[in-house]
Parts: sequence; C-alpha cells; structure tokens
Amino acid sequence: MHNLSDTKGFMGGLHPSATLSITSKAKAMKAEGIDVISMCAGEPDFDTPQIIKDAAIEALQTGKTAYTPASGMPELRKAVAEKFKKDNGIDTAMANVIVAPGAKFSVFTAIAALCGPGDEVIMPAPYWVSYPEIIQAAGAKMVVVQTRAENNFEIDPVDLEAAVTPNTRLLILNSPSNPTGSVYSKESLEAIAAVAVKHNFMVLSDEIYEKLVYDADQPHVSIASLNPEIADLTITVNGLSKAYAMTGWRLGYLTAPEWLAKKIAALQSHTTSNPTTFAQYGALKALEAADDEVEKMRQAFSRRRDLIFDLINAIDGVSAPRPSGAFYIFCDISSFGLNSDDFCAKLLEEKLVAAIPGAPFGADGWIRMSYACSDENICEACKRLSDFCASL
Ligand code: PLP
Repeated sequence: MHNLSDTKGFMGGLHPSATLSITSKAKAMKAEGIDVISMCAGEPDFDTPQIIKDAAIEALQTGKTAYTPASGMPELRKAVAEKFKKDNGIDTAMANVIVAPGAKFSVFTAIAALCGPGDEVIMPAPYWVSYPEIIQAAGAKMVVVQTRAENNFEIDPVDLEAAVTPNTRLLILNSPSNPTGSVYSKESLEAIAAVAVKHNFMVLSDEIYEKLVYDADQPHVSIASLNPEIADLTITVNGLSKAYAMTGWRLGYLTAPEWLAKKIAALQSHTTSNPTTFAQYGALKALEAADDEVEKMRQAFSRRRDLIFDLINAIDGVSAPRPSGAFYIFCDISSFGLNSDDFCAKLLEEKLVAAIPGAPFGADGWIRMSYACSDENICEACKRLSDFCASL
C-alpha cells in the first residue's frame, strides 16, 4: 500500500508560516479574554483610506466583477510602471509589470519561474520567513550569508562574492527589511550590483516597505535604478499591503525583464489568474491619489519607532539597533542564554506579551517586535518585557 501522506513534490514539504502561527495564537488568547499584548503584527493597525475603499465600492456597483487579464488590468499595470519610474527611477513599461494577489505571490512566481533544481539562491540572514520555503517550493538550494548588526544588517559584498558559485541564479534583497528594519545604503547596493553584474546572476529586490522609512540619511534606494546592467538583472517586487494599509486586499506587483515577465505571467495565468477585479480599482486609486494618507501613517510609525527604540534599549540585557524602516524592531536577547523560541514562549506565558522568535528569520538569540500598534501597547509591552528580563 502507498503511504499517501509521503508526498514527493517540493511543495508538500513546506512548513506553516511561523509568524502567522504565533500571531494567531496571541489572537486566540485575546479572544478568550486573556490580557495579551501582541507585538507580532505584520500589518498596519490602520484602516484602508476611504478614497481607496470608495473606488473599489464604485467598481463593484458598476459591475467590475468579471475576470481581467491574468497579469492585471492594463490601466493598473500602466500606473504601476509609472510608479516605478516616478518613485524609484526604474525604467520600465507595462509589458514588464505583473499585478498579483499580494507581494508574497509575486515573490513566489518570480522565484518559481526563475529557479529550479540545481540552482542556488543567495539569501542574507536575517531573512523574511517565507523566502526559504518559497525557494524550497521551487526545488532550488538556499545559500545563507550572515549579515551583522554592526554593518546595519547589510550583506557584505566580499561575503556575497564568496558565496557565488557557477550555480548561483538569484540573490534576494529586502530593504527596508523584515525583520531588522534596516535600509540598505546606495553605496552598499552599488557594490552588490557590481557583484551581480560581474557574475551574471539575478536579484530579487523586495521593496514592500519602501514607503515606510524614517531617517533622512537612510532613504530608500531601488537597486534597479542604479544602472542599466543591474536593471536588466533585477526583479523589483512591491505591493499595496503595508504602505496603504491594504493587507487583506491581496495586491502586489513586480517588474522584471521582459523574458522573465513572460514566464511569470504564464505561471500566474495557470494558478491564480488575475487579482480580484474590484480590488484592482482600489489599487489604481491608491497609486494615483493616496500619497497624503500614506504620509500620515508614515509619521505615526516614525513616532512609534522613536518611542519603542528608547524603551527597548533602556532594558538591561536587551539591545536593538535603530531601525530606519518597516515597522519592526529586532532585539538582541542573547545575553539571557535562552534560545529565541524559549524566550518568546516564556514571555508569553509569564508576562502575556507575544513577540516573534528570531530563529525562523535565521537569527536565533533575537526577537522581533512590531510597533504597528498603539503607544499604550508599546509602553505596556516594554514594561512587561523589562520585568520579564529582570526575572531571568
Ligand atoms: N515581503 C515581505 C518582506 C513581507 O514582510 C511581506 C508581508 O509580511 C510580504 C512580502 C508580503 O506582502 P503581501 O501582503 O503583499 O503579500
């Protein structure tokens, strides 16, 4: 008899998302009436701006409920291409752009269309938890390169070059970063681009937190804007979730060289087809007219970043580099001698604070706290964390 659960495909061996499972555990405890403070959120605590909702409502009411082309509506793809030119200095066109049900799916289709068995994907650690699983789903091999807090968690070009082999197909970059909040400098990106061009591998630049940057001396830079050679090797992924508080709408997009865009479009056409039609109208409005709303949210995150940074670093035994983007602070808890899973489990059990262990991000000895929550929650969570650390 066959053992039906012994699945042979690469995709059957994936693990559930560690961040999503801890977040839902904290939510379930809260629903039971337990006074848990969740510092796990991977999404803004704001509602989607009204003008975006209105555009989607109007689309629904005027019958925009049928399929669109699988890669998205032409007018939205054009608006995305314009956005890449205007905001990022990336020279692209509608033919290169694919709109997808979430940036996560754009990351998936890009990696799955590009990589397969025998290919190596270089990934700087700490990394977003979904990258290793997606690389595995494609049947490719992950090559982890450690970064260092004292280097702003940017991959050292010397370490990068040392990891390159004839099988290197792709490098993944994520700036601003989940989980560290670090933002790559233009100089670092130039050095990385030079290695990619020299060794002829592709770069997937995940820029989903692009709009959430807080320091004038650490602006967001898109690697594809640096020169035509690196532009030809880069897939830039972005989306609406984080900047526009639209996580549940499921809208992301990418731009890729045309030869790869065609492969990605084919993959998407046989899997999800188009992202939800009326949601695409909301996305169009967001790109055209929601800059002021984004700025208001960015300012709120910026203020909270300052608050949590000071509170965390005042705790004995905990230190966290100042994050310049996204809405996470990555805290070094290695002085307590507990691994990050045990630290977070004890913190939740004893002080009812939910934080995400660093281990699934490739950084045991660290924890990720999200500041996509109220000032009150930030203050209370840091007070409880401080009491917890004092008790260890
Ligand atoms: N990339 C990174 C680094 C993320 O942190 C996330 C969401 O947590 C995504 C991509 C996925 O975003 P989306 O909601 O558009 O799928």
